[in-house]
Order: sequence, then structure tokens, then C-alpha cells
Amino acid sequence: MYKKNKVILSKILPQIQKDGLQNIIDGKSIAAQSGATFENHSPVDGELIANVAKSDAVDIDIAAKAAAKAFKTWRKMPHKERRNILYAIAEKIEAHAAEIAVLESYDTGQPIRFMKKAAIRGAANFKYFADKAIDAPNGLSTPDTEHLNFTVRQPIGPVGIITPWNAPFMLATWKIAPALAAGCTVVHKPAELSPASATLLCRLAHEAGLPKGVWNMVHGFGESAGKALTEHEDIKAIAFIGETSTGSLIMQQGAPTLKRVHLELGGQNPTIIFEDADLERATDAAIFMKYSLNGERCTSGSRLLLQRSIYDKVVKNLIKRVQNIKVGDPLDPDTEIGPLIHASHQNKVISYGEIGQKDGAKLVVGGGKPDKKGCYVNPTLFVDATKDMRISQEEVFGPFLTVIPFDTEEEAVDIANSVKYGLTAYVWTKDSARGHRMALNVEAGMVWINSQNVRHLPTPFGGVKYSGIGRDGGEYSFDFYMETKNISVALGNHSITKLGV
Ligand code: NAD
Repeated sequence: MYKKNKVILSKILPQIQKDGLQNIIDGKSIAAQSGATFENHSPVDGELIANVAKSDAVDIDIAAKAAAKAFKTWRKMPHKERRNILYAIAEKIEAHAAEIAVLESYDTGQPIRFMKKAAIRGAANFKYFADKAIDAPNGLSTPDTEHLNFTVRQPIGPVGIITPWNAPFMLATWKIAPALAAGCTVVHKPAELSPASATLLCRLAHEAGLPKGVWNMVHGFGESAGKALTEHEDIKAIAFIGETSTGSLIMQQGAPTLKRVHLELGGQNPTIIFEDADLERATDAAIFMKYSLNGERCTSGSRLLLQRSIYDKVVKNLIKRVQNIKVGDPLDPDTEIGPLIHASHQNKVISYGEIGQKDGAKLVVGGGKPDKKGCYVNPTLFVDATKDMRISQEEVFGPFLTVIPFDTEEEAVDIANSVKYGLTAYVWTKDSARGHRMALNVEAGMVWINSQNVRHLPTPFGGVKYSGIGRDGGEYSFDFYMETKNISVALGNHSITKLGV
């Protein structure tokens, strides 16, 4: 498998290096109008992947106008046709799954064992929302005695979608599929640190028969291309995934044009294990939820809250397991942790090793980086931490787990809620009433009881507090990408007050 992945990479990389990563606007691959490019390097070995279009407000303006023009016809396309196109995109993704997984792995450093599923999940997102397209306009009827009221949902217009570097392919499909199913057209600005799969995805969509202008993809930096997208008059809403501080900027930038915003932001999520839990399953899930996807995962359980009576036992097991995690080339199917996205992020994660020790927590595994080329860090485990330490409060976004002891349920809730974030929480207990109480009392948009994060597409996805505004998934996505219009029809000759008689 490892060899096969390397062969796939050797086939696709030279072409990308030769062509560069261009924008796709109105169905055409084009360079930034200024001709500017920036370099994208792999975190695996520092190799140049491609020169990428360095777009600015001019390119965004062309893309937004193309999206506005295409909206006029795309919004009116019969559901069946729209559904068929979205299915064709899913099939294209499936047919190119191996290529997508290898490219994504090499561009982001995410292990191939997870990226293989990312391509398949991307296709599933398109199929799921394709099937829902027919019901997207449905509304409610709220009759009164003299009027019949009913609502319809209509696509809001061209939308901007801005995605982060950690799981670019999957997250782009997660946002773009419902937007297209709703009848919106799209300008997508992928992250500058992992732009490769966005170009491939948009190209596949056009090969699948997507009309030109419906999905436009513009590369570039956040402060130029991203900012211009959030400010553009023709763009009616911004769906954003990224850091909390960027989310705040996006609200400010979008305010003058009254943008609707959906923000999926950072997290410092707790996994809470009570003494009566199935400790083997709970430990497996706690390790998976922090050390999978390089720990660069918004929903990861970054704080492990352990009840004191089981603390030593679980910690002993954790130490053994974390020491065993295999760090290596992400294209190797045996690899569990690959390199982080970029040297600056690698240094940030490593710096938290010193911060944790200075604050008085105990470093029991890892810290620092292995002696090899690439943006690798050692899987890191801190124990005996307290809720107010920086490693408990801040989003480290790496393979870095902070363990905190607690005595009572009330204390567990207090620690869980002591951070500014509120994306997910994971509760492990065999006491069903306690599990439900915890779910109601923790401040999070999503809670799993006796489970790791298992995504079910119709369920609402999103956070509270500094983890975001709004929800994705099923109907929730259509609420964002569509406007609800009320239509009121008089049923007879109801009274009308006469003025000026
Ligand atoms: P980031 O905020 O730095 O960048 C995200 C995107 O925003 C990029 O495309 C970037 O170019 C763009 N951007 C930056 N400044 C902008 C501006 N002023 N205007 C418009 N666009 C701008 O985030 P990142 O470092 O790429 O991603 C990691 C973060 O994403 C973490 O905090 C993680 O928790 C979060 N995340 C959240 C979710 C979720 O669903 N809640 C999912 C994945 C990642």
C-alpha cells in the first residue's frame, strides 16, 4: 500500500508542479489577474507542490460576478437535474478517491489511513444533499381565519465559502454540497496552506457536468482574497470554518454589507471519564479523539477529565499507548501521526510543551520533535494539570493531550465549562441518568455519551460560546443557505380600514 501511494504521488505531482494551482472562475482555469503566485510546500519533505494563484479583490470580484450571473439559472434548475449533477460529482470523487487521498495527505501531512475515508465522506456529503434538494424549498402552512399563510424557502444567492487547512477536502464538500443543493452558487476560498485538493475537487465538479459559474474557486490569502470575499456586495452569506479570531474578523468585514455568517471555529473540548465507565472503550476513544488527524481537529477531546479513583490506572495505560503511537510518513498506511501543516504550527505546538511545564503540569510523554525532516512533533501527554493552565484553556491543535483529575460530577461540569470554547464534549459513564445530566449541563453544541465523535449527516453540527455561530447538517444547512419567505393569501373579503374617504 505504501509503495502504491508513492506511485500515485509520483504520477500526479509532476503535473501539478508543471501546471500550478490556478483559480477556476466561470468554468475556466485562470491565473490571478495580477499574475502573482505563492509557493505551496509539503509539510512531509518541504518539496514544492505548486505555485498557487495569489488572488486579490480583483479576482474575487470576477468570481462573485460569475456566481451572481450563474445564480439566475442555477436557482431555477429542476430539482431532478440538480440532484443528478450532484450525484455525478459524488461519483467523480469516488472514482478519484485514491488520488484525492494521496494528494490531501501530502499537502496537509494527515495520515493516509484517515484521508482515504475523507474522500469517501466527501462523496457521501454530495449524495446526501443531492437527495435532499427536492425538499429544500418546502415550508410550513400557518392558516389564519381570513388568510392562508404558507412559507417557501428560496436560495439566498451567491455565497462565499472559506475553509481551513486541517481537513480541506472533506470540509469543502461539507459546505459546498448543501449550498449547491439549495440552489445557491458558490465562491470558494480554500486555505493557503493546503490548496491542492480544492483545485482537483472543483475541476472534477465541472467534469461531472456542473454548469460554469455555479462553483468558482479562488486561491489566495485570508487578508486579501478572503477579506474581499466577505466584503463583496454580490455575496449574500459567508460560511466559514477556521480560527475564532478570524471568525470575529469575518463578522466585522461582513457587517457593512449585512452578510449572513455561519462560523465554525475553534475548540478545547473535554472528554470526561467517570469511574463506572467501560475504561477500555473510554481510553480507546480518548486516545483516538486526540491523536487522530494529527490532533489538528476542531472536535478533538483535548482535555481528558478523569475521576480520581481511576486516575492512576487510566494514566498508566495512556502513557503506554501514547508512547506507542507511530509517527511517520503520512503516505505509509501504518502511520498514525504525520507532520503538522507547517513549521510555524509545529513550533507553536512544541512551545506548549514548555508552557505546560512552566505552569506546573507534568510532562509524561513526548514534547519536542523527532529527529527527522518534516514538520513532525512527538505525541505529547501532560498529566496533573488544572483547569486554569494555558494547556487547558487554549487550543493547541496538535497531538497534545492534557489530563485533569476531578472528584465529583459538579466539579467535572465546572472544569468542562471553564474554557471560552464550547464545541463538543464526550462523556463516559454507565449511569444513564448521570450521562444525560452531564449532556444537559456541559456547554457544548454537540455531546457524545459513551462514544467518540461519530457524524450522522442529518444532525446539527456547530458550537456555542467562542466555538461558533450557527449549525450545519441536514435541514440546518438549508436554513443557512436559504431565505424563508411567507406568502399570505386572502381567503375572502376581510375588512380593510378605509382612509381618505
Ligand atoms: P484560519 O482562521 O487561520 O483560516 C481559515 C481560513 O480563513 C483560511 O482560508 C484563511 O485564508 C481565511 N482567512 C484568514 N483571515 C481572513 C480574513 N480576514 N477574512 C477572510 N478570510 C480569512 O484557520 P486555520 O488555521 O486554517 O484552521 C484551523 C482552525 O480551524 C482551528 O481553530 C480549528 O479549530 C478550526 N476548525 C473548526 C472547525 C469547526 O467545525 N468548528 C473545523 C475545522 C477547523
